[in-house]
Amino acid sequence: MIQFERVHKNYRTATRDVAAISDLSLAINEGEFIAVRGPSGCGKSTLLSLAGGLVLPTQGRILIDGQPISEMTAAERSSFRGDKIGFVFQMFHLLPYLTIIENVVVAGNGVTSAEVRERAEQLLSDFGLTDRLTHRPGELSAGERQRVALARALLNHPRLLLADEPTGNLDPENASGVLELLAHFHEQGGTILLVTHHDRAAGYADRSLALDQGRLVESGAVETTT
Ligand code: ADP
Repeated sequence: MIQFERVHKNYRTATRDVAAISDLSLAINEGEFIAVRGPSGCGKSTLLSLAGGLVLPTQGRILIDGQPISEMTAAERSSFRGDKIGFVFQMFHLLPYLTIIENVVVAGNGVTSAEVRERAEQLLSDFGLTDRLTHRPGELSAGERQRVALARALLNHPRLLLADEPTGNLDPENASGVLELLAHFHEQGGTILLVTHHDRAAGYADRSLALDQGRLVESGAVETTT
């Protein structure tokens, strides 16, 4: 689905040139659940941003369904992201002034059709949040907020979920709840690239990768705990 071919990503600032990703080759296959681990600053978020076409490589190629990202226009990349990819972040990134249902519906690319609303309500119901639809994010627990963020990410039936430390701010019980929802998406054929510090979270994946200073240092199958 996504192939990295000898990808480098450097960030140039006024004072320094940082090699965030160095010579990384990786195939993310359709239906795979990949966990990425590594210390802070090793390039995990940059890897997700590259996979989602949010940033472009400095060197090397990234292919999406065989098409090089560099040959896509910004509009094509954006449309691919909107249609095929869901994002989940450690800090949830919900809009505080919108209700829960509005926070999910907003991912429908501005289309608030009855169908989008129905899908949003279904997801929130599946995630145990039916009685919270008109609440605002500030009234929810961290675990509930992450479930809302996941519902928003899944609204458009993405093929790929890019998750950046989605359990990083959750207690073990809520973290397990979110991981179970990710596992369910994977069981239904979804592809996941999960950045995590937690061994337990990585235990849900088919394959575990480790990054160190922008380089892939370990890659292997992991035993599942499910
Ligand atoms: P991680 O997610 O593993 O913490 P990041 O991908 O966020 O790592 O960062 C990798 C390296 O790139 C770090 O040294 C970080 O300081 C640097 N970096 C990340 N984003 C930028 C940016 N926009 N400008 C400059 N340096 C950046």
